[in-house]
Amino acid sequence: MIIYYSREEKSKTMECRFHPGREARYRCTKMEYYYCQECLDDCRACTDPCVYCKSRPACVIWELCGKEAKKRCQEEKRG
Ligand SMILES: [Zn+2]
Repeated sequence: MIIYYSREEKSKTMECRFHPGREARYRCTKMEYYYCQECLDDCRACTDPCVYCKSRPACVIWELCGKEAKKRCQEEKRG
């Protein structure tokens, strides 16, 4: 018997957390959430911008949205 290992399974398209049916291009390593380009443009892609995250040094989302996310976080704290 020959077993074929499917590559399809792993390269399967992921859906955006906020936009079902849309292809996600970014992943939150901490929460295992997926986000599309639009979510990143809006900086909705960081799950907990106010909370420490050890994945940040390697996080694409944070690299592109870190500043915006921090700003939002401070605005929330001010109320
Ligand atoms: Zn999205």
